[in-house]
Amino acid sequence: MSGPINAFEMAQKQFDGVAKQLNLDPGIAEVLRWPMREYSFRIPVRMDDGSLRVFQGYRVQHNDARGPNKGGIRFHPAETMDTVRALATWMTWKCAVADIPLGGGKGGIIVDPSTLTVNEKEELCRGWVRSMWKNIGPRNDVPAPDVGTTPQMMGWMMDEYSRLVGQYTPGVFTGKPLGGGGSLGRTEATGYGVIYTVREAMKHLKMDSTKSVAAIEGFGNVAQYAAIGFVEMLGGTVACVSCYDRHAKKSFTYSKVGGIDPHFLLSIVDEYGTIDQAKAEKAGYKVEDGDAWITYEADVLIPAAIEGHVNADTIKKMSSRVKIVAEGANGPTTPEADDFFKANKIFNIPDFLCNAGGVTTSYFESVQNDMNFYWPKDEVLQKLDQKMTSAFHGVLEMSEKEGVYMRDAAYMVAISRVVKAMELRGWLTGNA
Ligand code: GLU
Repeated sequence: MSGPINAFEMAQKQFDGVAKQLNLDPGIAEVLRWPMREYSFRIPVRMDDGSLRVFQGYRVQHNDARGPNKGGIRFHPAETMDTVRALATWMTWKCAVADIPLGGGKGGIIVDPSTLTVNEKEELCRGWVRSMWKNIGPRNDVPAPDVGTTPQMMGWMMDEYSRLVGQYTPGVFTGKPLGGGGSLGRTEATGYGVIYTVREAMKHLKMDSTKSVAAIEGFGNVAQYAAIGFVEMLGGTVACVSCYDRHAKKSFTYSKVGGIDPHFLLSIVDEYGTIDQAKAEKAGYKVEDGDAWITYEADVLIPAAIEGHVNADTIKKMSSRVKIVAEGANGPTTPEADDFFKANKIFNIPDFLCNAGGVTTSYFESVQNDMNFYWPKDEVLQKLDQKMTSAFHGVLEMSEKEGVYMRDAAYMVAISRVVKAMELRGWLTGNA
C-alpha cells in the first residue's frame, strides 16, 4: 500500500473533486464535507469473568436534510472516528442516489465481536443504546447492521430502546431478525442489489453474463449473496472468494476449478465470515493468500470486504480481462486505483450506488414497521430491483451526459439532491 489510507480523507477528496466540477458554492461544500453531529462515548460492560471492561463507541450523523439519518453500526477492532465519519458521509450519498427519503449516519464500537460471549455481546449492544438513545429514533436516526453486527444484535438494541422510551418502537433499528420486526429479503438485499447493478452494467457493455466470471473479495453477508446472485441470477461463474480467517488472523482466497459453489461455502462459514478451511480443502477447494482474489482471470471484480483494499499496490496484480469493478464494500477503491480505472476504461459501479440495496431494504423495513403490515419476499425484492435499476440508470445517464467517471456521476446525482433538500428546507438562506 502507498501509505495508510484514511477513509475520511478519501471521502473528502472524492467530494472535493466533484464539488469543484459542479462549481458548488464553497460555503455549501463546507457544510457537506463535514458531518453535522458526532458522538463519542465509553461503554462499560461487566464481562462474564466478573471484570469491568470499557469499550469506545461512536455515532456520526452526517446530514439529515432528506430525512432521518440512516446507516449501520460496525463492530471492528480498527474502528476510529474517521472511519465512522467517512462511512456516515457515504451513507448520505447512498440514500440520495437510491432516492430514498433518508440522510446519512454511521456508528461503531472498537471491538472484535468474535472475542465476546453471547451475553457480553448483548450487554455491549444494550450499552451502545443506553449512551445514544436520546439522539436516535425512527424520525431522527435509524441504525442498522454492518461489518461485525447481526440481526440478533439489532433485535437487542431495538428492545433496549423500546424499554427506555416505554413503547415498542421497531422502526428505530432496521436489519432486525424475522419475527422480531425484520423484513423478508433484508438478508439477501445488499448482495442481490450488487448483482442487479452488475446485470445492468453488463447490458450496457453488451456482455454475455452467462459467459462471465467474477472474483469476489470477502465472504460476509454482502459477498455471500453477491456470489449466489452472480451464479443464480446471471448464470455466471464465481472463480473465487476470499475471507478473513479469525483463527489464523489473516485472509485467504478460496477457489475451485469450474467455479465455487456459494451454497456449499455458506454451509461452512461461521457468523464472522470465516470459512472452515479443512472442510473446504476436503471438498477440493484451493486455498491461497488473501490478496490472490484480485489476480484471477475475471470479467467482474466485486470487492465486498472493507475500505481501501483496491489500491495502488493490489491493482498491479489485477488481470487485464477485468471490465467491471462492482463495489460491494464501502470505500474499497483508493483515489490512485480510481485513476487507473479511469485511464484503462474499466467500468466502475461505485460503492454508494452498488451496495445501496441494504439500506433501500432497510427503508422498506421501516415503512413496514410504521404500517405494522409486512410484505412477502417477492414484493420486497421486486421493489428493490426497481429502485436499484433506476438508481443505476440515473447515474449512467449523468455519466454519459457529463462525460464523467461513474463515481463522479454518482456524486453529482447525490450532491444535487441533498443540496436541493437543504435549499427547500431553507437551510441555505441563513435563517434556519
Ligand atoms: N450498513 C449498510 C450500508 O452500509 C446498511 C445500512 C442500513 O441499512 O441502514 O449501507
